[in-house]
Amino acid sequence: MQIAMMAQNAELYSHRRLKEAAEARGHELTIIKTLGCYMNIASRRPTIYYNGAELPKFDAVIPRIGASITFYGLAVLRQFEVMGTWPLNESVAIGRSRDKLRAMQLMARDGIGLPVTTFAHDPRQTEEVLRVAGGAPTVIKLLEGTQGIGVVLADTDRSAKSVIEAFRGANVNILVQEFIKEAGGTDIRALVVGGRVVAAMKRTGAEGEFRSNLHRGGRAEVVKLTPEERATAVRAAKAMGLNVCGVDMLRANHGPVVMEVNSSPGLEGVEKATGIDIAGQIIDFLQKTAKPGKTATRGK
Ligand code: ADP
Ligand code: GLU
Repeated sequence: MQIAMMAQNAELYSHRRLKEAAEARGHELTIIKTLGCYMNIASRRPTIYYNGAELPKFDAVIPRIGASITFYGLAVLRQFEVMGTWPLNESVAIGRSRDKLRAMQLMARDGIGLPVTTFAHDPRQTEEVLRVAGGAPTVIKLLEGTQGIGVVLADTDRSAKSVIEAFRGANVNILVQEFIKEAGGTDIRALVVGGRVVAAMKRTGAEGEFRSNLHRGGRAEVVKLTPEERATAVRAAKAMGLNVCGVDMLRANHGPVVMEVNSSPGLEGVEKATGIDIAGQIIDFLQKTAKPGKTATRGK
């Protein structure tokens, strides 16, 4: 097959691994820098231009769209979809998961466990929002944050109020969430490929840090998931409509709660912690499933 991979940086571990896995199976994988693409939308024959030339028609596209280029990346991916190229993850599904609020609403609709989460616009509702989230300690997070940046733990209602006011003053959207203390600074990342959990790791934050992100100094270890955790990860992937994703969960007293679904999950931490060839499983799924013109939503 002719596979395109939208990626800004060809050297990243995950991107190298996907390329190797595709080539090992006899496919050709071309890395296309997302921001280097431009598109002809109006024509009767939709095209993507890259490096001054028209891109050939690919059988499948692997979108690896960084959070900071979501808007443009999704536009390029939609163009591939309009041209009938099969996407590993559809643009609409990636869009759902990138909007944390939309993602939580969809998962709530499906009855998936979530931390109690509140969202409000009007600053006069701050106290009410805090009360609904269960009062301090509380977690306040930027709707658009990644890698744990913009996630704050407020120990008292007073500090929570000041943090909320500070974020509001900066004119950014925030979520106010119950603090899952019993998670003990550890979260779980389940890698879902084609409706199955293929690997899982737990990440534990550095000493004294409640955020477990690897970018914040956390460490990764293999973990065995409970059947309920597996089912939750698979349901979260399904609610988003993602074929491949990383589902981040916390172990709450009342069962797993989903924090986030990542549509371009990093492979390095989880492959190294588990020894599982996830890139290979992703390409196996792709070659089994990719059919030209079989994009369900075509970016709609
Ligand atoms: P990001 O998308 O920036 O990684 P997350 O929402 O995943 O932000 O939060 C970062 C980390 O903070 C999580 O991996 C988890 O360890 C911790 N965390 C986030 N929300 C909560 C919460 N409600 N209760 C306890 N810990 C949390
Ligand atoms: N490496 C990021 C972290 O530390 C995760 C990003 C991803 O998996 O896409 O949490």
